[in-house]
Amino acid sequence: MPELPDLEIITGFLRWSIPGVEIKQVEIKEPLVLRCSAKDLIQDLKGRAFTKVTRRGKFLIFDLAPGEHLVFNLMLSGRLQYCRPGEKSRSYLCLQLGFSNGHQLRYYDRKRMGRIYRVQKGDFSSIPQFELLGPEATDPAVDPEVFQKRIRRHPGMIKNILTNQRFLAGIGNAYADEILFAAGILPFRRRPSLTSEELANLHRALGEVLAWAEKELKGRVGADIHVEVRDFLRIHGKGGQVCPVCGGTISEVTANRRRTNFCRGCQK
Ligand SMILES: [Zn+2]
Repeated sequence: MPELPDLEIITGFLRWSIPGVEIKQVEIKEPLVLRCSAKDLIQDLKGRAFTKVTRRGKFLIFDLAPGEHLVFNLMLSGRLQYCRPGEKSRSYLCLQLGFSNGHQLRYYDRKRMGRIYRVQKGDFSSIPQFELLGPEATDPAVDPEVFQKRIRRHPGMIKNILTNQRFLAGIGNAYADEILFAAGILPFRRRPSLTSEELANLHRALGEVLAWAEKELKGRVGADIHVEVRDFLRIHGKGGQVCPVCGGTISEVTANRRRTNFCRGCQK
């Protein structure tokens, strides 16, 4: 599932590629992902252009002149690709836009769980969970003090809190594992058991891991925004492999179809 660092790269790339370019062709292959009328969308998008691409949490927001947004929630398996028409389509193509610059924007979704919303400018009230989002995980306003204050409202397991979009927006399963590894905290610890020092470490690790990941991805993803690059992660997806810090074996636990990786040697 794309998370904040992945989506920052995708937004950064699209922000530079598509604003101001006229939409010439609209093809809908899978209306299930649409939370608006397919017929109207086909009719209304042609001849218009996106003016801006931004991100809020895990939502990608395409501003459409005049006065509308197309909002993508990629969920588990949604992927966007920006390519030439000759490029072979992957399976589960749901939506394809053709631009006047000869490129296409394609939306693939194997599980068809992602959603595309069409809303009036500035009105996100019809998008589930959108208005409940907490501050961005990378928001500088979330300083150590604000972080500690916010996290104290949540009594549960620390990994669940990190992935709770109402606490902070943008962190998912993979980066929660990375952040907890960097902070030296076991994912199953309950928040009230964490000391102020541990929470300070967690806040520091969160900023460092997200900044590091974005830097890594910048060099790796390029124009291939449909490819999810995760091989550089230190702990997530590395169950059974050697811990890069202590040399122990990386543990793996799967609960509710969600995989958690951690190191018993490095995390307390
Ligand atoms: Zn270790």
